[in-house]
Amino acid sequence: MTNQQEQAKTAALEALPLRDNLRGQSPYGAPQLEVTHLLNTNENTHPVPQRVVDAIGQAVHAAASSLNRYPDREFTELRQRLASYLGHDLTENNVWAANGSNEVLQQVLQAFGGPGRKVLSFPPTYSMYPLLASATNTEYISGVRADDFTLTPEEAARQVQATAPDIVFLCSPNNPTGTALSLDVVEAVYQAGKQFNSIVIVDEAYEEFSLSDTKSALTLLAGRERLIISRTMSKAFALAGARLGYLATSPQVTDALRLVRLPYHLSSITQAAANAALEHVDELLATVDEIKAQRDRIVLELEEMGLQPAVSDSNFVFFGWFENAHAVWQGLLDRGVLIRDVGIPHHLRVTAGTAEETTAFLVALREVISA
Ligand SMILES: *Cc1c(COP(=O)(O)O)cnc(C)c1O
Repeated sequence: MTNQQEQAKTAALEALPLRDNLRGQSPYGAPQLEVTHLLNTNENTHPVPQRVVDAIGQAVHAAASSLNRYPDREFTELRQRLASYLGHDLTENNVWAANGSNEVLQQVLQAFGGPGRKVLSFPPTYSMYPLLASATNTEYISGVRADDFTLTPEEAARQVQATAPDIVFLCSPNNPTGTALSLDVVEAVYQAGKQFNSIVIVDEAYEEFSLSDTKSALTLLAGRERLIISRTMSKAFALAGARLGYLATSPQVTDALRLVRLPYHLSSITQAAANAALEHVDELLATVDEIKAQRDRIVLELEEMGLQPAVSDSNFVFFGWFENAHAVWQGLLDRGVLIRDVGIPHHLRVTAGTAEETTAFLVALREVISA
């Protein structure tokens, strides 16, 4: 689009009776470009194993014959399967799901946020949090991290005290930095939020890629009825296209989410695909160790290049330092490798893909740096 066309489009949008807090905003938009190596949205770049493709195909085919009827509104079988995957003595009464964890998070904001309410998070973190906040008319409060992007329990608790949030979003492992929070931070935030009856969400979209000594916040659920752990099948499970996100929490929080979910929000097709996939968890997660090995290789080689990668508990690596990170991003794109410029000065983020993709990225980066 030319600049002029862009301006005309913006003017046409502005002429609509759009809500004030949506004026001037841009939609979420990681570039979807035709490039040889797509390493910008942290998908699992390995294809879905053929046996799982076949199982999903059969299940969807079977579900197609009853598409004249609405799906199971309570998606009970799916909640049972997700509970048994998560373990920790959870049952279907602790589990909720929606079309991607983004929808799960939106439902949490619809139930507990809204006009006059506040959600606190700690940037740099997932770019969807402020967008979900404004879409639900919830005030977004940007908490503060140390210069090295870390967050201590004391600091996090102090900021909860100071801002009295209705909801706190913690992302662990954090996107875009890749590093997990210690569970002390989650405990401290929950404790500090008690006097405000705050809901605390830990977004564990990348938990399956965690380093071996990193523990899931699922271990903290017992006795904390306002704690929510969200997960997704979009990353480790290699099912980003299926749109299935879920959470674990207390039964009363799932009842609150039933008040805002649209009736039959999970289609029969989605439920069938997810149920079939969950019969093949081991096969779906078989690539996780290989991806972690490529991630560790990226960290090592970036260090060899004199760069500064962050500790990664995820399937991506956040790294600096570049005088002009965007020029490096463009140089990689010119060589057929698309990674992410997350808008943090002097830093970039790359997804750990297959061994071949990782090699392509590292070769291209060495070229760009030496050019
Ligand atoms: C990718 C990602 C998600 C997943 O979103 P889906 O809607 O489940 O695809 C959630 N949270 C974070 C931090 C992510 O990076």
